[in-house]
Amino acid sequence: MSRNTCFMFSLCLFFVFAPLQAQSSEDFPINFERYSDRVLVIKGGHVYFDQIIAIASRKGLIVIDTGKAPSYTQEYRKIIEREFGRSDFLYVINTHFHFDHTDGNQVFADAKAIISHEKCPDMMRNFDRNRANFVAARQPRIAQWISQRDAAAPGSRDFLYYSDIVISNSVMVNDLTNNYILTLPSLTFRDRLTLDLGDLTLKLYYFGEGLHTGDDILIHCPEEKLLFTGDLFYKETLRCIYQPEFDADRWIDVLDEILAEEGSVDFAYDTHNGRMSGEHIALVRDYLVDLYEGLKAAKAGGLEFAEVEKMFAYDLKFTYLERSGLDPQQLRQDHAESLKILWTKLSK
Ligand SMILES: [Zn+2]
Repeated sequence: MSRNTCFMFSLCLFFVFAPLQAQSSEDFPINFERYSDRVLVIKGGHVYFDQIIAIASRKGLIVIDTGKAPSYTQEYRKIIEREFGRSDFLYVINTHFHFDHTDGNQVFADAKAIISHEKCPDMMRNFDRNRANFVAARQPRIAQWISQRDAAAPGSRDFLYYSDIVISNSVMVNDLTNNYILTLPSLTFRDRLTLDLGDLTLKLYYFGEGLHTGDDILIHCPEEKLLFTGDLFYKETLRCIYQPEFDADRWIDVLDEILAEEGSVDFAYDTHNGRMSGEHIALVRDYLVDLYEGLKAAKAGGLEFAEVEKMFAYDLKFTYLERSGLDPQQLRQDHAESLKILWTKLSK
């Protein structure tokens, strides 16, 4: 057997045996943490999580995002039912259409409604139409992740990261081929939606275009002082300007509204990387406002980019971002990129 054939043979064996084990295991542990009496965070994997949130409200159970593989989500559901001692699922909320946030919807088909932004159902339909191609395209990517995992030192963060995505993607591919029922949101909104759950409230905000998929929403629970960010904000970065087309005014309006009251967000959970502080979100907002308003004024004043670069130098205006604890070198690089992109947007 050539080295290549041998590799492909191992890969086939992997797909035959590995994908069918969706229970918690040493290779893909399923853990959960109680944020509070009412909020449960369930995480599959070691470092790059397949994560869902469950909230126990007086009116029923709420689930935020449903994971990438129904086989795993079945296990997550068992944990929710066991931990809360109830199974009255009221709402599922999808933060956006991506497979790793909606594939498990079918596990909660008994909920009263699945909620999303109004753009999400069509995007999910489109994904479903292309499902076979998506699965085919994942196979070589999984093969690549296997070699990256095997090149990393066992037990290192890289090893665990690639191990997480290899195993969870293999289970997902198997599910998308054999065990997937397109389960669309049944209640959608355009701008904002408030859910009165008796003892707590969930405020849903459409975030707008230009950061992730364009159907992304933020979910704020004022009583728990928690924000759920889907794939919009991650704790490893404050950066959110990647492309010239983005809804700057909406982004700022939404963040201002969520952060209007002192202490309205203690923590924010994204869907893959663990929680970040409320201050992290406030820094994202402050930076956006400072850069956007500042550059708009500079543009109106007829300044050239060379002048703007000096006026808005990182060291002059933005070292406050280091309160995030992130690497100053990374913050400086991200700022240089964001400045250029935002200037391009304002120059159109
Ligand atoms: Zn996503």
